Amino acid sequence: MSERANTPSLLERHRAVMPSWLALNYAEPIEIVAGKGNRVTDAAGNGYLDFFTGILTNMIGYDVPEVREAVERQLATGVVHTSTTYLLRGQVELAEKIARLSGIPDAKVFFTNSGTEANETALLLAAYARRTDQVLAMRQSYHGRSFGAVGVTGNRAWTNLSYSPLHVHFLHGADRHLPQFAGMSDEAYTEACVQDLRHVLATAAGGDVAALIAEPIQGVGGFTMPPDGLFAAYKEVLDEYGILFVSDEVQTGWGRTGQGFFGIENHGVTPDMMTFAKGLGNGFAVGGVVARGELMDALHAVGLSTFGGNPISMAAANATLDFVLEHDLQANAARQGETIIGGLRAAAGRFPVVKDVRGKGLMFAIELADPGTGDPSPPLAAAVMEAARERGLLVGKGGLYGNAVRMAPPLTLTDAEAAEGLGILIDSLETVNEAAT
Ligand code: PLP
Repeated sequence: MSERANTPSLLERHRAVMPSWLALNYAEPIEIVAGKGNRVTDAAGNGYLDFFTGILTNMIGYDVPEVREAVERQLATGVVHTSTTYLLRGQVELAEKIARLSGIPDAKVFFTNSGTEANETALLLAAYARRTDQVLAMRQSYHGRSFGAVGVTGNRAWTNLSYSPLHVHFLHGADRHLPQFAGMSDEAYTEACVQDLRHVLATAAGGDVAALIAEPIQGVGGFTMPPDGLFAAYKEVLDEYGILFVSDEVQTGWGRTGQGFFGIENHGVTPDMMTFAKGLGNGFAVGGVVARGELMDALHAVGLSTFGGNPISMAAANATLDFVLEHDLQANAARQGETIIGGLRAAAGRFPVVKDVRGKGLMFAIELADPGTGDPSPPLAAAVMEAARERGLLVGKGGLYGNAVRMAPPLTLTDAEAAEGLGILIDSLETVNEAAT
């Protein structure tokens, strides 16, 4: 046997030293080695239009000159990394922008390296401010992989082994598929959810709760959307009890939904805190919490995050956020999303395997179901993913039952790319539908 045949592949080496629970996309996982604009190339030289951008990380595409040059300028200083013990211009500038954009009165910002840490910090702030470990969270939610964040995650993939330090009550709001809610109007469902919240507070929590943490659109949950206005209705009750509201904007922030710079704006609510991460650094690690100043300042026991707000991430994030604002990418997200979601909805009737098409702006999903039984079908979702890849389009997967194909293209998506992606998706559905029916 040749020496080459004995050389383990990258996949074999990955399996040997990386955790078995790390999910890799595709039956034959690929290695992405380069990116330019809204496209990537794999190690075999195949090019793809990227409708998932890592996991919503390269929010404005790959190799963006403005971001690269900002990072290079920072590198040229010698990468003086001083943590938060000295003044850092990039941190202050980014915090000023985020505080202003958040709409939260007297807002202050704390930077972390990830969404998990951001949520952990928000929970800590809330528990500290309200002196209780009871919190509210949403069924089907995902907030990260630390003990606290897993604790408020309402998805069995993460919760079945969690020993949360928090006392968590899960709420309805993104589970309209349940038979008791079927056919309800948005108003009736919202009212039912509010009654449930009141019941939980009165009977289970005794009203003694620090915060509700919720995603305006559930990301990992399959881009499931509570009805617009649900969180405004919840907030009225929370205010009665003095319970804080944390909007997890890790997936929905920065104009992605097209209808507001943060996803929660779709509900007409100003939260007490928002958490963010993923796309802000356009590939560089940055996360954080923006909170009312009095809440942020109350927690003086925890002084710093060593790498949170590091100068390289700040340079990337400032350049990315400026780019989003200068090019009004929120408007682009709304426009391209309308084309793609509208196109998918128009085509969906032809495909019995498609159970639902949903989304807002550049955050949309197709839910696949067995055409005979109507049951959620993860294999059909995987088949659509594979079919799209063969045609040069990368997408994501997820959902409560693993049967949703999720897409979150870069906010810089062009008209031509939107049309190309839509064409590939319809073609892929056609193939999968034909094989399944
Ligand atoms: N919150 C939401 C809504 C997320 O989707 C994620 C990650 O997918 C997180 C938090 C955790 O972020 P991170 O993976 O950066 O820790």
